[in-house]
Amino acid sequence: MTGKPEPPRDVDAVVVGGGFYGAHIAALLARRLPAVVLFERENALLTRASYNNQARVHGGYHYPRSILTSLRSRANYPRFVADHAAAIDRSFLKLYAIARRQSKVTAAQFAEFCRRIGAPVEAAGAAATRRFDADHVEAVFEVEECAFNATALAVAAAATLASAGVQVCTGVAVRAVAPGGPRRLRIVWGDGAGESTDADLVVLCTYSALNDLLADSGLATVPLVHELTELALVEPPESMRGLGVTVMDGPFWSCMPFPAERVHSLSHVRYTPHARWSDGGDDGHAVRGEGVRHRLPPSHAPHMLRDAARYLPEVAGARYLRSLWEVKTILPRSDMDDSRPILVRQVDGAPGLLAVLGAKIDNVYDVEEELSRMLDRGGIQ
Ligand SMILES: Cc1cc2nc3c(=O)[nH]c(=O)nc-3n(C[C@H](O)[C@H](O)[C@H](O)COP(=O)(O)OP(=O)(O)OC[C@H]3O[C@@H](n4cnc5c(N)ncnc54)[C@H](O)[C@@H]3O)c2cc1C
Repeated sequence: MTGKPEPPRDVDAVVVGGGFYGAHIAALLARRLPAVVLFERENALLTRASYNNQARVHGGYHYPRSILTSLRSRANYPRFVADHAAAIDRSFLKLYAIARRQSKVTAAQFAEFCRRIGAPVEAAGAAATRRFDADHVEAVFEVEECAFNATALAVAAAATLASAGVQVCTGVAVRAVAPGGPRRLRIVWGDGAGESTDADLVVLCTYSALNDLLADSGLATVPLVHELTELALVEPPESMRGLGVTVMDGPFWSCMPFPAERVHSLSHVRYTPHARWSDGGDDGHAVRGEGVRHRLPPSHAPHMLRDAARYLPEVAGARYLRSLWEVKTILPRSDMDDSRPILVRQVDGAPGLLAVLGAKIDNVYDVEEELSRMLDRGGIQ
């Protein structure tokens, strides 16, 4: 940590994990508490899942089989777009195509679902529809959905944290959190030389590494499901530069702008996940996703491109550049609130310690509400 300020030894609150969630929550806490510190083990903010994702600001269209998730997206969409205007890319036409075979919704059902959740939708014009293979696609809709630039989000997060007075410590891994010390919790960080910070409130926003840290702290883990995912970054053919496409609703694909690199991302329901595993819960074990990320399997990008071109032939002109690999972590359904696919939970045996897991970037507002409610009720037990 040469040249960087030493992390403080005594604060009111610590946030572990400097992704989109951790940054947002640290700034939120700093409105209530004078001394807040954020630890991030990478050398910069928002470099992990908050970067390695499809950059879709979900407008609700994606979940025709989960109306509550769609309604959350509809509620959060305008707020996210307004709060992050400088990071929003609306410069492209967004089409949702309904596959003729294997789709779990028909075109009529999709249109009705959009109407029910209040999501703007209209049948795409003849020219847009003709771009798709009619044997594979039943209908095409034009929708209102945009993308975010993760680099711009990171720049904005750093500025917000600075003006909120949060001390940001990048390149510092937290090893364990345990009850004890002059405050309620002691956070052990660094290279194992026993460096620590004491705090009354600690929020873990470590996403796929949540159970690693809980297990290393000897604390109860959370039942989680993880997937090793691959998003292909491609240079689209000129005709697709201003186009984002999602084929629904089953083992299909999306190809849309990835504003941070001015390329397109390509994801495929069948080929993006490479491996799936669960951890946490009763037996308390954690399967370290970091290990999985260091032994990457061969890319599925050629399969993604080949399959996508069956629906939209011009995809064949895309040039594969590289892949973004990430561990995607979700809650088994039993852990979700009915309408909110998020986790905000007090960790057993460690008063003042909270575990947070979001679902999509814009669910941060659901976490914010939940967290504020807990703090308003008189603090975290
Ligand atoms: C393939 C894929 C596609 C997705 N597509 C979308 C999409 O289109 N739209 C959308 O809204 N969402 C999407 N998501 C979900 C979205 O990316 C995540 O919900 C979001 O990024 C989670 O943010 P986070 O801050 O919790 O996690 P992260 O950004 O991963 O942040 C967690 C941080 O914690 C740090 N950390 C971990 N352990 C420690 C430790 N011990 N000490 C210090 N730091 C630590 C990590 O380095 C990391 O920076 C997608 C996810 C994936 C994987």
